[in-house]
Formats: sequence, structure tokens, C-alpha cells
Amino acid sequence: MTIYDYLKDYQPLLFQTFGNALTNRNLSHAYLLDGEEGTPLKDVAFYLAKSLVCDNPNPYACNHCDACTRFEHGNYTDFYFFDGAESSIKKESVLELEKSFNLTSVESKGVLIYVMHNVENMTIEAINALLKFLEEPANNVFAFLTTSNTTNVLPTILSRSQILTLQIIKRDVLFGLCAELPLAREDIELLVPFYNLPALIEEEAKTERFPLYKAAVVDVLTTFSENPRLGYIKAHDLIPRLKERFIIKRVFTYFALFFKDVVNYNIGHSLLFPSLVNLTKALSLILKNPLALIVNTYEVSKKVDDNVNIGLLVDELLILMIKETTHGK
Ligand SMILES: [Zn+2]
Repeated sequence: MTIYDYLKDYQPLLFQTFGNALTNRNLSHAYLLDGEEGTPLKDVAFYLAKSLVCDNPNPYACNHCDACTRFEHGNYTDFYFFDGAESSIKKESVLELEKSFNLTSVESKGVLIYVMHNVENMTIEAINALLKFLEEPANNVFAFLTTSNTTNVLPTILSRSQILTLQIIKRDVLFGLCAELPLAREDIELLVPFYNLPALIEEEAKTERFPLYKAAVVDVLTTFSENPRLGYIKAHDLIPRLKERFIIKRVFTYFALFFKDVVNYNIGHSLLFPSLVNLTKALSLILKNPLALIVNTYEVSKKVDDNVNIGLLVDELLILMIKETTHGK
């Protein structure tokens, strides 16, 4: 599914609003794309930005012209991208942007565009630098900011941006769309909570890291369900080995989701991971209070952002889990 089709079919309001602005050349200088985790914020931001530079817009980017092709390959000179997804955006980056934008645009379109992905993840200094930039927008400068957490975005940024919200594709609709993907059902089920678009699910499933963090979840929980103390050892072996902190946080989130599935299983509700029902069943046999574990696991996962030593967090969570088992003392 292309981003154009995604917007047209699943984000009709945004498609209409931004399409009209493009047609009438009545664009805001700053857009804030807001969507829950898993929505393709970055891809949409890039596509909207590309639509401003396309040689044959209809009114959205054609994806074929010279400008679109160069944009796609990262060779469009007047475009800057800052990624707050994996580490925070620093003041230096914003100042550098400001400096480049003081020069005139290089490309014939005469517009300068930047995307700041996960703008909630900026240092205070960077935010202040950005605010100055948003306060006095030059006529030819356009910003696309994204966030999956508007409550963490400063009101001053919100008030200077036009907010475009991405709606979630519902779970059953998403599964229908994923039916064609060359992936195991189990993997699709595991990725649906984190990626709200088939293309993103497929892309993530093919990364090197996916089998590693999947093992850190499924192997650890399976071993734990058979022998909690061996599960503890396996968790210490597999989880700290994952390189990216946001992936480690995701592993903890998976633990919470499996505990949620234990609750679902116990009360006969439909499961998040039906392909892994045997694991859920095994966990349900040994966990006394899965509901308490869900809350406690989320609490541990939040600490991943605070640079706490991962070994300590694994310890904290696994000890909590052991205490909740029927073997626990
Ligand atoms: Zn084009």
C-alpha cells in the first residue's frame, strides 16, 4: 500500500485537508502530525513534504518526477530530517538547520522543508531554539513535526502548528490487509501492536533485530513458564544483548501484553496473540495475579527511558514475575 493510498483510504480527513491546502497553495508553515505509536508518522511526514516539491503534483506527490525521485533517494538539497525516535534532538541540530536556512534555497522550487520526527523527544535547549524558528517563519520555510504523544509536546509548539491527526486502522481491518503478506501469522500478530500499516509490519519482520527481540520475549516466557528460575537466567542472557533501548522497552511491553493475554485467556476474551495460545495457557497455569503484573511491568518498562542499567531492570521484572508464580516464595 502506498502512502497516497493509505491517506486516501484510511485518513480521509487529513487527505482532504492537506490536499485542499496544496491545491490552493494555502499551506501552514508548521504541521504537527499526531498519531498513536505504530502509525506511519515519518512516512506520512516525508510524503507531505515531498508533495511540496513534486514537479507534477496531483495535488499530492507523483513519486515519478525528478524532484520526487531525488527526494526519495535523499538527494533533495532543501530538505532536512531530524530523528527523535531513537535519541533526542539536540540544540546543535536546530541551530545548524537555522544556519542552512539563512542561505537561500538551492532548488528551483524555492522552498526549504524540514521534518522533525518524534518532536516530544527534544532537549529543552533544542525546543527553545525551535520555538524561535517557529515564531517567525520565513515565507519559504515549511516544517513537519511528528509526535505519538501530544501531551508531551509543549503547548507553545502545539499553538504554532496546524495539527493533523492520523487515525488508527482497526485491528481486524489491519489483519485483513496483512493477509497477503509473506509472513507467519504469529509474526503479524506480534507486530500489529507496534505497526499500524502492512508495509511497516513487513519491513520490521524482515529486520535483523526482529528475530532477536522476538526470542527475548517468546523464548524467555516459554522457559519461564516451564521453570521460572531458568527463565530468569535466559532473560539475563537475551534481553541486555539487544542494542537499542527502545527495543528493550518494547520487550518489556510485550511481557505486559502477554500478561494481558493471560487475563484475556482466564476470562475467555479474545487474545492479542492467538497463535501463541499455548504459551499464554502455560503462563496462566503458573501466574497467580497477572493483572498486578501488567501494571508492574509497565512501571519497569518506563524506567528504560531513564538510562537505568538494563540488567537491573531485567532483575526487577523477573523477580516480580517469580513472586507471582505459584512456585514463588
Ligand atoms: Zn513528483
